Amino acid sequence: MKKYGLLLGVFFFMISVNAQDLYLHCGKILDVKSGKISTEQTLVVSGTRIVKILSGYVSKSKPEDVEIDLKNKFVLPGLIDMHVHMENEFNASSYMSAYLDNEADIAFESVRIALTTLKAGFTTVRDLGGTGVNISLRNAINKGTVPGPRIFAAGKSIATTGGHADPTNGSKRLLMGDPGPKEGVINSPEDAVKAVRQRYKEGADVIKITATGGVLSVAKSGKNPQFTIEEIKAITQTAADYSMLTAAHAHGDEGMQRAILGGIKTIEHGTFMSEATMELMKKYDVYLVPTITAGKEVAEKAKVTGFYPEIVRPKALEVGPQIQSTFAKCYQKGVKIAFGTDAGVFPHGQNGKEFFYMVEAGMPAIFAIQSATLTNAKLLGMENQLGQLKENFLADIIAVEENPLENIKTLEKVLFVMKDGVVY
Ligand SMILES: [Zn+2]
Repeated sequence: MKKYGLLLGVFFFMISVNAQDLYLHCGKILDVKSGKISTEQTLVVSGTRIVKILSGYVSKSKPEDVEIDLKNKFVLPGLIDMHVHMENEFNASSYMSAYLDNEADIAFESVRIALTTLKAGFTTVRDLGGTGVNISLRNAINKGTVPGPRIFAAGKSIATTGGHADPTNGSKRLLMGDPGPKEGVINSPEDAVKAVRQRYKEGADVIKITATGGVLSVAKSGKNPQFTIEEIKAITQTAADYSMLTAAHAHGDEGMQRAILGGIKTIEHGTFMSEATMELMKKYDVYLVPTITAGKEVAEKAKVTGFYPEIVRPKALEVGPQIQSTFAKCYQKGVKIAFGTDAGVFPHGQNGKEFFYMVEAGMPAIFAIQSATLTNAKLLGMENQLGQLKENFLADIIAVEENPLENIKTLEKVLFVMKDGVVY
């Protein structure tokens, strides 16, 4: 055994010294910044990075290098989704899962979801809330233990008592307990500070709050404001101490305004946003993360008797259809848009559907693609490494069959995925 161990050691030493480079022969490359398409290019990938972009199909330089044929494909940077939930996928029995699943069950499911998401061309995601398994998943992916997208995780999202992300909503009283800041439930600015610090301690990258009621929680209102502005300020100011990006789930207008004035950076859903709030979004440089796909899904599933509890159904029917038209208005008014889907509310891997819904609502295809690349890379502080195909950028590269500027739906069928220089 000792001998084999030594041989293996020598083998890994050899490949690390003589690392193979990958030569991607790209028929068409979409420059997401300019919207221009260049033809017959070679992307040279070494390790995790794009090291050269050459004209024409350049042959490999060492015998151990590998050439990858994407001559009949459209190549673009890996996509970024700012709103997913990697721990689960909603179905009719999801409300029971909270009482049945152990963390290990959630973890195994999240491994499947991670690969599904990656194969759909989403090489980076922001996970906006789960039990904390999402942080472990991020770590496992970073270590190379399991394949998946690069994750920026919120851990557990922060709510107020009875609010959208109170984990004991809908329980019988015996099981409700009284969750506090440690569990992500706050009721004062002091609690808010502690909840953010707790998330930091647990390894979260970003902070998510549920600023208003939500559709799928077992509660009456999907839009009432659920934080005071002082609580939100305490959250954003504490998050800033740790350089954490902040996101607020919000359907109702009042809660949205408090989130914006309180210093939140992205508004998720934005369903009943008034024109005055759209102006406020612009003034405070806040981004809308539309999640139209999730809206379409809940509106559809609410028609199926028994899929959601009766208290959820009217909310889903009201909120669902509104999201796309609010997005359209926001776009027209010049509100900044960051691509995000709320995958998990609908099946993971269908994140690419959002592009079609954005274009259908009036956004040109190139802007929709920019929102999932340039914009999101910038929000995540990765604009010098992600979101474009450039020398020295991370090698997150995808390929599709058709020109996405002519047929946006081609992004729903990603044919080639590379993340950090590894092909999946
Ligand atoms: Zn969500």
